[in-house]
Amino acid sequence: MIRPLIAGNWKMNLDHVEAVHLIQQLGVLLRATAHDNVDVVVTPPSVDLRTVSSLIDADRLPISLAAQHVSCFDAGAYTGEISVAMLKRLAVKYVLVGHSERRQLFHMDNDTVAATFDAVRRGGLTPILCVGESAEVRECGEHEAFVTDQIRSAIGAASDGELVIAYEPIWAIGTGVTAETAQIAEMAAVLRHALPASVRDLTPVIYGGSLRASNAAEIARYGAVNGFLVGGASLKAPEFAEIVGAANDCYGRTR
Ligand code: PEP
Repeated sequence: MIRPLIAGNWKMNLDHVEAVHLIQQLGVLLRATAHDNVDVVVTPPSVDLRTVSSLIDADRLPISLAAQHVSCFDAGAYTGEISVAMLKRLAVKYVLVGHSERRQLFHMDNDTVAATFDAVRRGGLTPILCVGESAEVRECGEHEAFVTDQIRSAIGAASDGELVIAYEPIWAIGTGVTAETAQIAEMAAVLRHALPASVRDLTPVIYGGSLRASNAAEIARYGAVNGFLVGGASLKAPEFAEIVGAANDCYGRTR
């Protein structure tokens, strides 16, 4: 049985004071929202991690912590980078690896994604490997081969250990255009097939791309994915809590 995951990606939004406000608001809302069928995760900017980690711990919030990015190097002369060991000390559990914004805007190629994926796994954290095709790749009919290659080049021969796959079509991220449930289901099957057989039935495949409270239930109910990676809508505590509640309800029924 795969445990669904609802992860909010705050991207480069909210300083540590604003982060306190959001996490406290979310904590209050989650107290009134059933969430026992899903894991709730937030992914703040790196400079907010310590504050958010302390609050989760002090208030015993039912929220896990993820980082948006990490260095593929363990330690040393890499100015500006943050290591897996540093994240571990802050009780970070997950790390986004290869988000399309890092791939496109910061030239993170498949080799760096693979090295980062490996560093996260070696360090004992769980990678959330982000994959997804552009509109152009889909128009050429190459989307299945494209994401299969993204998965295989990142994971290599690694055949055990926890990981999460986030299917995030680039054309759906931040555009207000959500992929159709049938498209999500088709790609989730492709992604699962691309995984090593040993982890195929154990790995959560989640969807991200303009996910809102208004469409979360429909996608969760369809049953093809095990949760969501939520960008913009995770910055509003009421909407994120609503997504958690809707997903919790749908996944609870399909258990
Ligand atoms: C994301 O960036 O991971 C994402 C899914 O963003 P949005 O929900 O804003 O499309």
